[in-house]
Amino acid sequence: CGIVGYIGTQDTTEILLQGLEKLEYRGYDSAGIAELNNDGVHVTKVKGRIAALRSEVEKKDIESTMGIGHTRWATHGAPSYENAHPHQSASGRFTIVHNGVIENYEDVQREYLGDVDMNSETDTEIIVQLVENLYNEMGDVQEAFRKAISLLKGSYAVGIIDAQNPDVIYVAKNKSPLLVGLGDGFNVVSSDSLAMLKVTDQFVELEDKEIVLVRRNEVEIQKLDGTQVDREPFTAELDA
Ligand code: GLU
Repeated sequence: CGIVGYIGTQDTTEILLQGLEKLEYRGYDSAGIAELNNDGVHVTKVKGRIAALRSEVEKKDIESTMGIGHTRWATHGAPSYENAHPHQSASGRFTIVHNGVIENYEDVQREYLGDVDMNSETDTEIIVQLVENLYNEMGDVQEAFRKAISLLKGSYAVGIIDAQNPDVIYVAKNKSPLLVGLGDGFNVVSSDSLAMLKVTDQFVELEDKEIVLVRRNEVEIQKLDGTQVDREPFTAELDA
């Protein structure tokens, strides 16, 4: 299980699929991707192998320059199409991929999401529904994302995209691995540098509960209180 993300100028589909193929060794039961273009967000997901995801994706022939992808190892909710990631908020505006386990998802649901109809049995879906609810209250996506992260307990590597903003992938982690890979005119996100070594070998490590705004030409790391963090990349090497 793991996540990948790409934002740049190239065709996203192939980069995400190849990244997921490299994550296959981590084990998974379902896989999916979400891509954003001028027509909106396109979610493609399957129960089963990346090869099955690839053939579904190829039928659609989506052109996009940003997106997120996931291989799932089910912890909450059986392996199924409905429970496969990406998951979307009620209005469809926010889309998430998540690796890990949200320990307090029932509390969050009870306290903040009493009125929301869930589309899956996953702990993951509460994150994206929470972001939308907080956004509706606060009117600012970054603030809503920070607040959501501050309310979650457990392990996560998350990537979220906003259908109304094609210029950023919102990223955070806690106790699950996650790296940001740096490119020239593009940036990537990955649970494992291996998945993105084909496109870059420059990676930035993230610390728990940092908020990262991944844009085409910039990676902005913030602490939960909004202060900016500077961090140098390291060069990843393939283990021989
Ligand atoms: N807990 C989430 C789920 O069951 C994510 C599992 C994973 O890390 O793949 O859908």
